[in-house]
Amino acid sequence: MDLVSVRTVRTPSHRDDLALSPGDRPLGGGTWLFSEEQPGLTGLVDLTALGWPDVERTAGTLTIAATCTIAALLRVRPDAAWSAWPLVDRCANALLASFKVWNAATVGGNVAVGLPAGAMTALLATLDATAVVWTPDGGERRVPVERLVTGVRTLDLRHDEVIRAFVVPESALRATTGYRRVSLSPHGRSGALVTARWTADEFVLVVTAATPRPVVLRFAGTPDAAALDAALGAELGSDADWYDDPHGSPAWRRSVSTRFARELRADAAAAAAGASASAGGAR
Ligand SMILES: Cc1cc2nc3c(=O)[nH]c(=O)nc-3n(C[C@H](O)[C@H](O)[C@H](O)COP(=O)(O)OP(=O)(O)OC[C@H]3O[C@@H](n4cnc5c(N)ncnc54)[C@H](O)[C@@H]3O)c2cc1C
Repeated sequence: MDLVSVRTVRTPSHRDDLALSPGDRPLGGGTWLFSEEQPGLTGLVDLTALGWPDVERTAGTLTIAATCTIAALLRVRPDAAWSAWPLVDRCANALLASFKVWNAATVGGNVAVGLPAGAMTALLATLDATAVVWTPDGGERRVPVERLVTGVRTLDLRHDEVIRAFVVPESALRATTGYRRVSLSPHGRSGALVTARWTADEFVLVVTAATPRPVVLRFAGTPDAAALDAALGAELGSDADWYDDPHGSPAWRRSVSTRFARELRADAAAAAAGASASAGGAR
């Protein structure tokens, strides 16, 4: 839709041009900004003009630019050891968006909108990513993605701050990941999206879409069924902890998310049992 209140559109070529005035908003792909009225918005600052590389590989990390589109992320060729990489495709497909939207929508824009069904937030939280946030004084601060999104459309992000990138540790990329999603209708917005990442030493469960903010539960090794249920109960024990909107009631979201969490735990336990059986056979 036309944003009739917008008076300026800036295309910064370097960081010094980036300063955001009170009516300014950063522009990623614009797929959300142009989808509804934006009261008080008078200026757009197009981050894609800054020319950040989509991804950068350094020893031990993968850095994904906030301006990397979902389509460009899907085109990245993963290293052979990145067992977690199928989660990228799954989370892209979890968005209620076609490939046409993927070509414009950015990873940073998806996180910055702060919708519970923000599947890039789920992906990055599952991969233990840290957001690099540019502050207006020319500095930066780093926030784990799981703590950047604090609620429905609320972030630990000031109006004049910009997400520059997400840093993913390679150790998380080498882990195994699991995924479960459900929506009330075949092409509906996610009602619950539960993802997990595990190794022999760690099991990390991430609940999004069913909760107002990402909920991350960490365990040393695969928990038993009782320990998982206890952790879910401690973190998400009341209906008020679950998101309530036309895409699902809190009771339904709690029920399907609990089932998904149990299934993912069982997958991790089965993988651990298989690994110890083959280690025993090799002896
Ligand atoms: C058909 C359709 C289906 C969709 N389905 C989903 C869905 O299932 N789940 C979902 O979460 N969204 C969905 N969306 C909304 C939206 O397309 C996505 O969230 C998308 O990833 C937003 O990215 P963008 O780059 O287009 O953001 P923009 O629209 O450019 O920006 C979104 C917001 O983030 C801010 N922003 C952008 N980049 C930065 C940055 N680097 N630093 C700080 N602030 C920034 C902007 O100022 C704005 O407030 C859908 C949209 C459409 C059209």
